[in-house]
Amino acid sequence: MPFKEALEALFEAFRANGILCKWNEPLSAHTSFRIGGNAALAVWPSGKTQLILVLSLWRDLGDGCPLCVLGKGSNVLIADEGFCGLVVLTTKAKRVVYEEDEAPNRAEFRRRAETGSEPYCRVYAECGASLMALAFACGQPDRELSGLEFAYGIPGTVGGAIVMNAGAYGSDVERVLVSADYYDLQNGCTGQLRDSEMHLSYRHSIFLEHPDWVVLSGVFKLSYGYGPDIREQMKKNMEARREKQPLEYPSAGSVFKRPVDNFAARMIDTAGLKGVAVGGAQVSEKHAGFIVNRGGATAADVKALVRLVRDEVEKLYRYRLECEIQLVSDGLNEDDGWDTV
Ligand SMILES: Cc1cc2nc3c(=O)[nH]c(=O)nc-3n(C[C@H](O)[C@H](O)[C@H](O)COP(=O)(O)OP(=O)(O)OC[C@H]3O[C@@H](n4cnc5c(N)ncnc54)[C@H](O)[C@@H]3O)c2cc1C
Repeated sequence: MPFKEALEALFEAFRANGILCKWNEPLSAHTSFRIGGNAALAVWPSGKTQLILVLSLWRDLGDGCPLCVLGKGSNVLIADEGFCGLVVLTTKAKRVVYEEDEAPNRAEFRRRAETGSEPYCRVYAECGASLMALAFACGQPDRELSGLEFAYGIPGTVGGAIVMNAGAYGSDVERVLVSADYYDLQNGCTGQLRDSEMHLSYRHSIFLEHPDWVVLSGVFKLSYGYGPDIREQMKKNMEARREKQPLEYPSAGSVFKRPVDNFAARMIDTAGLKGVAVGGAQVSEKHAGFIVNRGGATAADVKALVRLVRDEVEKLYRYRLECEIQLVSDGLNEDDGWDTV
């Protein structure tokens, strides 16, 4: 195994610091596609402090072994060969702090915020917090915070949502994110970026430009809303998803980014590709923008199907669809990017 000594040193260091880690972890169990080979070594830091420790240990002991950070794996395709390196799974770093809970007098804080010139509550969340659980909690009678209704139904973490600037139903992370803390793997320092510094645009953030920056946490600015409306909006969003999306099969959501003046799903449908399959991967019959795993699909099947879809759509529209889902590979295999697809 390449990087054997470095990985063994990391394993020992994680164990010595009481950080959960496992050899040969099947990554298919940690992605919504249910596809992918094993991680040579997987680690689950329990919070932001442990996450920083894991990343700094990798800098000290990793000896250049590949590193990958995953949230809930709901926007990735993991290579069949797996990941010959360290995979950091963030889902246990999920602390959430509401600004009003921190105030000495919560009721007074809330009264002033609700009636004042800045009627907001800031919510801090570690990168591994579930975006859906956060949206749900914000809508509950004890909170009634508005702004994350769009996120109810997006099955990722806060970190993954910041990286991807996740969005739906006319809103996105950009609308509510105030700042994010990150760890720079190059120099081993932490930093903070304000919303205007994060290059947030449609399914894009500065973190896609800097794969060596790991999102540690984010702060959201949410307004005080009317609870029944917030909950009704989330319910409607979820119903719309159930109606239009193939939630009964494993997938990674929309495979392609939306072109400027069209919809990827419509273009794929018009090209007659609904239902087309390669191995266990199929263009969903319900929503042509999704590729679903009908059982036993491999990453190679998905890549071949993505290539077919892109080729056929390009023939018809003279436009090559851009992939939204992220390809995760350790770079040790020859065919490791969407560029070759
Ligand atoms: C059924 C379904 C519906 C979906 N609907 C939507 C939708 O409506 N809108 C939408 O925008 N998306 C949607 N998605 C896609 C996906 O849920 C989002 O992109 C989500 O934000 C990804 O979060 P994640 O934690 O799963 O990230 P992952 O898939 O784990 O990671 C995505 C990328 O971010 C990187 N990453 C993850 N965490 C960190 C971190 N802490 N620091 C640095 N890099 C990190 C990963 O390396 C990878 O490159 C859907 C997916 C599914 C399966």
